[in-house]
Amino acid sequence: MKQRDSQKWFWPNIEDEEQLKEIQLQGLKWTVSHAYNNSPFYKKRFEDASIKPEDIKSLDDLKYLPFTTADDLRDGYPMPLLSVPENKVVRIHSSSGTTGKRKILCYTQNDIKDWITFFARCYDLAGVGPGDKVQIAVGYGLWTAGISFQTACEAVGAMAIPIGPGNLDMQCQFLVDLKPNVICCTASMALLLSEEVHRRGIQDKINVKKIIQGSERCSDAMRRAILENFNAEELFDITGLTELYGPGAGIDCPYHEGIHYWADYYILEILNPETLEPVGEGEIGEMVVTTLKKEAAPLIRYRTRDLTRAISGRCKCGLIFPRHDRILGRSDDMFIFRGVNIYPGQIDEILSMVEGVSSEYNIILERQAGKDYMTINIERDPMGDPVWDDEIEDKISLMIKKEIMVSAEVRIVDHGTLPRSQKKSKRLFDKRNDK
Ligand code: ZN
Repeated sequence: MKQRDSQKWFWPNIEDEEQLKEIQLQGLKWTVSHAYNNSPFYKKRFEDASIKPEDIKSLDDLKYLPFTTADDLRDGYPMPLLSVPENKVVRIHSSSGTTGKRKILCYTQNDIKDWITFFARCYDLAGVGPGDKVQIAVGYGLWTAGISFQTACEAVGAMAIPIGPGNLDMQCQFLVDLKPNVICCTASMALLLSEEVHRRGIQDKINVKKIIQGSERCSDAMRRAILENFNAEELFDITGLTELYGPGAGIDCPYHEGIHYWADYYILEILNPETLEPVGEGEIGEMVVTTLKKEAAPLIRYRTRDLTRAISGRCKCGLIFPRHDRILGRSDDMFIFRGVNIYPGQIDEILSMVEGVSSEYNIILERQAGKDYMTINIERDPMGDPVWDDEIEDKISLMIKKEIMVSAEVRIVDHGTLPRSQKKSKRLFDKRNDK
């Protein structure tokens, strides 16, 4: 570890990859036996799979463990996976499922401490500490985001401005009056707020240098727009999901060559979402996580549905912690069009390479006379001239044909005409089974 890291309370002293693996093995053994002995849900799952805690002898044995899914959390409502007596639970959080019941997750005191510890590493990697002012524009209350961004911010000694999401007027006022140099929000909110800053012409009255944004896929074009509108210097991607504590599970370092994740707190597998076998080196797959220290609601091979790929080798920053790529979409969002598996992140990547269009687009799938059609609506760049629309449309169609091997109808629309959202923007509209 680097000198700087080991001096701070939230960085562990881990010498090399071997030591990290040993920590993982101990954590895995503990988790499996903790879950087996204290959770009726896990006990039954293990018994159905004919697995006993003592069968886990190496990290390689992870592959024999059964998967856990979002459905399991809903079936066990309200306290699924509970593995401690209820009086050890000091907090709950909840996320709205896109379908059906909410997911409720619970935390012991140790879980909360662990969460703050690794979240503090995220701020530290982003260079946030004493003297920094952090505008926290994410959801509070039942959501995991607000409180974790705030407690970790205070824990590293920075000033928290807990403003919450929405309310662009107040956001802008605080940006001008208190001059925070860091803002934390979702990518959609970052775009919305940065466009508002730009629209109001207050760029020279604010001081946003860094954006820490989470929980959403964000194209390079969207990143550029956010940085330019804020006149900011750096953008960090923070990962996390409610089931895995919440935000703070990983972040990119100043080299921005992938997201470091806290492998002393969880094991990450990247698996083919259909076969559930490991993908080849560097291939895209679903993130499957197993926690190593979580007490109240441990996760064992939890299918996150998030897609990414592993990045091999040690990062230039020297940090021992491994990396994965940005979140490239959700395996649920993966759609099959004329026999080809496509995820929206692939479309993002292509659109990001084209000049004259903005980051905002949507994909519409329709069926006519038994045949599938794809239309991609994309906003013209605010400075763009409609005279180039035809040419750009053709160019994008051609690139999609070449990269993804499908045909799509591309339409450029006026800037600002596609719906914006402060939460996650919906990109895909599949109307193929609509009447
Ligand atoms: Zn790094």
